[in-house]
Amino acid sequence: MGIGWNFDNSYARLPNSFYAEIELNPVRAPKLIKLNKSLAKDLGLDTEELQSEKAVAILAGNTAPDGSTPIAQAYAGHQFGHFTMLGDGRAVLLGEQMTPKEERFDIQLKGSGRTPFSRGGDGRAALGPMLREYIISEAMHALGIPTTRSLAVVTTGENIIRETELPGAILTRVASSHLRVGTFQYAANMGSFENLEVLAHYAIIRHYEFIPNSETRYLRLLEEVIKRQADLIAKWQLVGFIHGVMNTDNMTISGETIDYGPCAFMDTYDPKTVFSSIDRHGRYAYENQPVIGGWNLARFAESLIPLIHEDPEQGIELAQSEISKYMGLYEESYQEGMRAKLGLFNKEEKDKELIDELLDLMHKHRADYTNTFRGLTMGDMTGSSLLGQEDFKGWHEKWQARLFRQEQTKEEITQLMESRNPVVIPRNHKVEEALEAAVNGDYSVMEKLLKVLANPYDYSSELANEYCSLPAPSNFPYRTFCGT
Ligand code: AMP
Ligand code: MG
Ligand code: MG
Repeated sequence: MGIGWNFDNSYARLPNSFYAEIELNPVRAPKLIKLNKSLAKDLGLDTEELQSEKAVAILAGNTAPDGSTPIAQAYAGHQFGHFTMLGDGRAVLLGEQMTPKEERFDIQLKGSGRTPFSRGGDGRAALGPMLREYIISEAMHALGIPTTRSLAVVTTGENIIRETELPGAILTRVASSHLRVGTFQYAANMGSFENLEVLAHYAIIRHYEFIPNSETRYLRLLEEVIKRQADLIAKWQLVGFIHGVMNTDNMTISGETIDYGPCAFMDTYDPKTVFSSIDRHGRYAYENQPVIGGWNLARFAESLIPLIHEDPEQGIELAQSEISKYMGLYEESYQEGMRAKLGLFNKEEKDKELIDELLDLMHKHRADYTNTFRGLTMGDMTGSSLLGQEDFKGWHEKWQARLFRQEQTKEEITQLMESRNPVVIPRNHKVEEALEAAVNGDYSVMEKLLKVLANPYDYSSELANEYCSLPAPSNFPYRTFCGT
């Protein structure tokens, strides 16, 4: 019985300007420290065999599995608004695992060494950030938010040099693809109509197979990507997730969240929250995420124009009419989500006002975002800075009156709220605590955290309370870093 790899390499069959075939960069002493057994099973992989020396050598990028064509993907991207040629500088795509359900998932090693796209970088990654991606991406998945996933983390037995020496590690990332807005920008920038069309066709086959093969299919592709991204970003806003580096190379065509570098969840509600140390002007602040999503989609639309219409002016007009729908779609998804968080089944004209008023109160009284909704769900605001405030009392009465105007029972309302307001999120101080212990060789704190994060809507969990506690004031302001 083997590991269960069943590779296809459809991306590697694209024109060769889309990637570079690479030699693997073996590491000294690979050790498996985290394996996602349930994901492994879904992928058709044997969880026992995956722990064998042979499998660990694969997860470390020391040997390629049968059927794999290791490549680094080429792409471009707007980084903080500036266009740059990029590519996988520290990742290798082993291939696409075909699952027992005949689904196709990219298997990518992140931190696997230099590639032709590494520029000045060493192609490596540190253990802390790879475990951080593992924890947060799996938490996002459990929250019901489309995301790339994490199959495994191995340590390399080698140190990497950052500000200090850090233990090196490699994450196995699983994605429904790694096609990015930046992949299309790269193709458009090459100036080859054929290559651009091959890529767009490929994206449709991989993610939007339902789009009929007609003249308008590339306009439809734009429309569908806009829908998925609008929905994705609404979901981020609803749980207080701040991506931190929404460059166009970090925005997928599939609509999955990708690149867990400087991301973090907001504790105290403040629309201007920024965690990333390099985001000095707050371009990717919480409140800007929806607008930036639209900006990125406009870059996607631009790259598609030659495919949308042979007359560029008409192409632009058609693309613009799609882009102009983005904010409405985002708002619709966000408002639906917010209504559900407040237990509202139907729609009333003043709902948006009710929602905005609550957010303003949370901001004014520096209330915790997640715990406010959790408190409202449980009907218990103990510990909240909103408790006892006159303006909050006024809001609460309005909300109660609004709930009574619908026909659903109290039980039904609670059930809806419990299903949409997570009890636990990966709070920064809890994630840091787990990473610190892990880097010092104790993985038990992380294992416990992962267990709680796997059921974020479980209101009966006894462990939950511990993970709802707020950080000590000394842990503010929290800062995140990318590129480690
Ligand atoms: P990111 O900001 O994480 O989206 O990364 C932007 C680009 O930098 C991507 O092309 C990465 O592959 C590349 N990159 C990040 N870290 C490294 C590294 N240590 N060595 C080489 N390339 C890197
Ligand atoms: Mg990236
Ligand atoms: Mg990154």
